[in-house]
Amino acid sequence: MRAVTLFAEWSPKPGYKLGSKDIEGKLTYLGSKVWRNPRIEMVDKPEPVPGPTEVLLRVKACGICGSDVHMYQTDDQGYIYYPGLTAFPCTLGHEFSGTVVAAGEQAINKITGQRYKAGEAVCSEEMMWCAQCRPCADGYPNHCERLQEIGFSVDGAYAKYMKMDARYLWSLDPLREIYGEEKMYLLGSLVEPTSVAYNAVIERGGGIRAGEHVLIMGSGPVGIAACSVLRRSGASRVIISEPSKSRRDMALAMGATDAIDPTGVNVAEAVLDITKGMGAKIILEATGLPSVVWPDIEKIIWEGRQLNATVVLVARADDKIPMNGEVFQVRRANVVGAQGHSGHGTFPNVISCMASGMDVTPLITKKITLDQTEEHIKLLQTNREQVKITVLPE
Ligand SMILES: [Zn+2]
Ligand SMILES: [Zn+2]
Repeated sequence: MRAVTLFAEWSPKPGYKLGSKDIEGKLTYLGSKVWRNPRIEMVDKPEPVPGPTEVLLRVKACGICGSDVHMYQTDDQGYIYYPGLTAFPCTLGHEFSGTVVAAGEQAINKITGQRYKAGEAVCSEEMMWCAQCRPCADGYPNHCERLQEIGFSVDGAYAKYMKMDARYLWSLDPLREIYGEEKMYLLGSLVEPTSVAYNAVIERGGGIRAGEHVLIMGSGPVGIAACSVLRRSGASRVIISEPSKSRRDMALAMGATDAIDPTGVNVAEAVLDITKGMGAKIILEATGLPSVVWPDIEKIIWEGRQLNATVVLVARADDKIPMNGEVFQVRRANVVGAQGHSGHGTFPNVISCMASGMDVTPLITKKITLDQTEEHIKLLQTNREQVKITVLPE
């Protein structure tokens, strides 16, 4: 079968010391310090063979993620942008849905308690948590110490077939009846990014009480999905702050009640105005520029009447934040970091939201074939109008 595979040269930057879990020439936890001159090729690979706890899937839909873009984008010395766990060559693709083709003896569907059957529709977590380390044992799979990631360090879903351990799979059956076959698989490919948003605002941010207001800064797929989830949680005002008009419009269509262009107005004043001086219970940092948006965040917390606000950092950013402790002390506010999408009932809750009408498929602005994958990963380096481009391998 053909598979969209990324190759890169192992060429650690001068002075870079291999981490304790890095494997020379093969795997690193700090991709941007090691991998150089990436290239994406369509390669021929044997179809995967599932083990006893694994499922062979026919891939139906797989979204292109910002991290795919960053694995293929380089700095002026040719090093990849993506800073995380990577082992190349690797078939990319991690936001996917598929049909079960075959299942090992102990590949159990968590909903039915039975072995997976051919024809069942599933989506998958991307984080392959080990279930054996201390964070996993303590119930924090998003912080697994022996994590592998599908489409980063293990072959992913830009291919006709892939295999996955059943422990990471979730049935899409609840979606079949209301959306039909085709849309079920499109929604299935959006469960992963929507779960990143859910984990950020509900699990880490603590959720809201109906009637409270929230602010989402940045409307990439995760920011927009957070609008849908929080509106569904009963937020009275879901305010999106985003420079791109098309992305603001999409957020408004998917749950935001108000949209702010941060290049045209003062964000803090606009939020205080919209909420009649209340401010926001949850502020989601989804721009990747926390030091830039921080003054607005502190002004909202300091001047708004909302106590106990929580700022959730979800966008990855190796950035120092100019934080004033007084603001967080006096206003009883919190700052939390959010990573991942696994555990805490997140995947099944997101599928349940979708099954009761939370349709996030408008996020998909373009559908492409497997052969068009490479050019579109490249296109997304510069194009900000597309939100989610989805590969349909068939
Ligand atoms: Zn992703
Ligand atoms: Zn673990």
